[in-house]
Parts: sequence; C-alpha cells; structure tokens
Amino acid sequence: LKSLEEHDPELFDLIEQEKSRQWRSLELIASENFTSKAVMDCLGSALTNKYSEGLPHARYYGGNEVVDQVEILCQTRALEAYGLDPTEWGVNVQPYSGSPANFAVYTALLRPHDRIMGLDLPSGGHLTHGFYTYSKKENTRKAVSATSVYFESLPYRVHPETGYIDYDQLERDAGLFKPALIIAGGSAYPREYDYPRFRQIADANGCLLMMDMAHISGLVATGEAASPFKYCDVVTTTTHKSLRGPRAGLIFFRRDSRDFETRINQAVFPALQGGPHEHQIAGVATQLKEVATDDFKLYAKQVKANAVAIANKLSSMGYKIATGGTENHLILWDLKPCNITGSKFEKVCDAVSITLNKNCVPGDHSAITPGGVRIGTPALTTRRFGEADFEQVAMFLHETLQIALKLQDQSGPKLKDFLPLLESSPEIKELRKRVH
Ligand code: PLP
Repeated sequence: LKSLEEHDPELFDLIEQEKSRQWRSLELIASENFTSKAVMDCLGSALTNKYSEGLPHARYYGGNEVVDQVEILCQTRALEAYGLDPTEWGVNVQPYSGSPANFAVYTALLRPHDRIMGLDLPSGGHLTHGFYTYSKKENTRKAVSATSVYFESLPYRVHPETGYIDYDQLERDAGLFKPALIIAGGSAYPREYDYPRFRQIADANGCLLMMDMAHISGLVATGEAASPFKYCDVVTTTTHKSLRGPRAGLIFFRRDSRDFETRINQAVFPALQGGPHEHQIAGVATQLKEVATDDFKLYAKQVKANAVAIANKLSSMGYKIATGGTENHLILWDLKPCNITGSKFEKVCDAVSITLNKNCVPGDHSAITPGGVRIGTPALTTRRFGEADFEQVAMFLHETLQIALKLQDQSGPKLKDFLPLLESSPEIKELRKRVH
C-alpha cells in the first residue's frame, strides 16, 4: 500500500499547498473551521469502504454490524449534545451536508408547490431557504435553488435600517401568504433569533416551523445561543461550522403523532440519497464527544467574545457594523460609507492573506453587488486567538482597507482596472509579510 505522497505526488503537493494556505492566512470565513485530528482520522478510515443503505438494524447490505454501532453512537451523542429526550426527539445523521438535509425536510413535510417563507438571501438567509433573483429588465423572477424551483417562496427580510429581522412584516405577510412552513436561521445574521415570536406566527397560520441552525449549532450546544428545540417542529444543521466537525448534515425531528420520523427517514433514503457516508458519520460522532467537554464550552464562549472584540475595535475606528454589533460568531461590516464594494475589498484581503467573503448588508437590494463583508471568529478561535489577537486582526483589516481605497483612487471604479494593481503594490506585499 502506497501513501498518497508516493502514489500521487502531484495531488499530495496540492494538498500541502492548501494546508499551508490555511495556516498562513487569517481565516475569517464565518462558516469555516479547523477540525480535529480525530475527525480527520475518521474521514480517512475503513468506514469509507462500506455500503449501508437503510438505517441501523434495517440495512439493504450485509456486514453492517459495526457500522450500525457507529451510526447509533452518532445519533445518541447528537441528541445528548442538545439535551434532547429520545422519547420526544429523533435524529437522522445521514444527510451528506446542510443543503441535502434541508431539501430532505421539504421533501418529507411538504407537497410540490407548497408555500414557504425563509429569510431572504440579501438579508442573510441561505439559498436553500427559497430565493429568487429578479430581472428588472425582463420583469421576471428566476428560481436559483431547487427549493424555489419546487416550492413557492415568499422570503421575509431584515429591516433595512436596523438590520434586525422584521418580525412585524413577517407576521403581516404570513397572514396573507399562508405558508405551510416557516424557516428560521441564516448564514449571515449576527443576532439572536426570536423563537417564541416565530412560533406564535407559525401557530397563527397553522404552519410548521423549522430552524436551520447550521451557523450557530456549536453555540446552541454549549448554551451560548438560545435553543430552538422548545419552539420548532424540525431543526437542521451542518456539522462543520461552529460545531467544528466534518462536512455533514443532521435533521432533528419531533416524535409525535405526525410521524415525522418515517417521513424524514424516507426522504433522506431512498428519496434523495443512497448509501450513507459512514466515515463522515463517525467524524460527527467523535466531534460530538468533544462538544460535550468543558474545553469546547470555553471555546464557544471565546468565539462570541472574539466577535464582540473585533466589532468593538472596528466601531471604535468609525466603521459601520450592521445592527451595531453581534450576539454570535459573526459580524457584518457595512462598507458602503467607505465607498468600496464588498467584492473589491474581499480581493484585497485575499492578496494580504486575510480570508473573508463579500456579503450583503442591510439595505442592499441584490446579492450580486454586496455592500459589505462577513467576518467570523470560529476558525481563528480554534487556533487559540483571543480578544487582543482579534483587535490586531481589526487593525490589519483597517490597513487593508486604506490600501484598497488608495488603489481604487488610482484605478477608477472598474474591477478589471483595479485587480492588476494588487499584483504590483509594495504595500500589499509588506502587509502580507506581517500577516504571515
Ligand atoms: N444552511 C445554512 C444556514 C448555511 O449557512 C449553509 C451553508 O453555508 C447551508 C445550510 C448549506 O450547507 P452545505 O454547504 O453543507 O450544503
């Protein structure tokens, strides 16, 4: 048996390059993290060889005695991580990732063309919550994800000035639209979710409530974010963001007379997926063991403290942070007052080895020209960054912005004239050295 290095040096080298990029740069993408050696060991284990279609003790292939135990361990730890009573809640640990988990819930609980309401993409929602692009020129809307192809979606929004979810508008719209499902949660929302209010709106309209806690599941597990379980019918999550596991998805469902269990299990397999990725499931299981430790609780606390530190430092320099701050692991930096787009700033950050992403900020109308950037703390907190380190990161971001504005003055507004200047800028080179 040859190692990857011996068998395929070309690919080995690419992976080494990526490893080096991850460790040399400042990783601020809010949905990313650095998972543990234990999780990596699971991903590269013999479990990747096994087919196990079906559920524990009800498989379509032989040889699953061990795999059954792995999957049951993952289910048990998942329920424990969120303090759930197994007689009241069940979990499916097989979704390949967050998007398939969400689509499995819709497949299970909705009929084609049923109505749904999720947070709009420019307001910080996720594509899988139902999103359309609008062409003013052609006066048409286009479905972007399968969610909006197969279901009728009326997104709700954040208030353009405060940046908080506009629950009053959601309530009015839900009363008229009468959705079958309301989806809470998002990818770029820096504040707590008001679950009692969501529940009240869902009940007033006789509809289901689902929370997609992908971004904050590590915070929920440690009590650093409010728990959605008391209020929701279904909760989905990814496992690779603040939870710090491998890439995968989970679906939690209430066990009651509505029999979500059968419907959701059948939607995952055979409706949408084939054989579960048991190596991933093992990785989730071992990460959930870590989530139960005091170390992980401290980690989650620090993730939040670091987000507050970077928000405060940027605000103290006069920059505008959407909603005026954060209650979780991320901030949205509104760059519109600085007269630069999120896209341009992201490119300059990349050039100095700071990795973040352009993002819509409250008041933006289109996801195509985002007015800001999203900054998250989970990954660097895993690397033991504390508040003082994040203040230094804020200083680097400030310096990067000053360089970006200077280069924009030289190039004019067009991105194609701006990008070549990044290659030749001595200030970028110098800052990159310090970031490394
Ligand atoms: N849900 C939310 C809120 C997300 O932010 C994401 C991804 O960023 C997903 C679902 C989709 O997860 P995945 O990329 O694993 O399909």
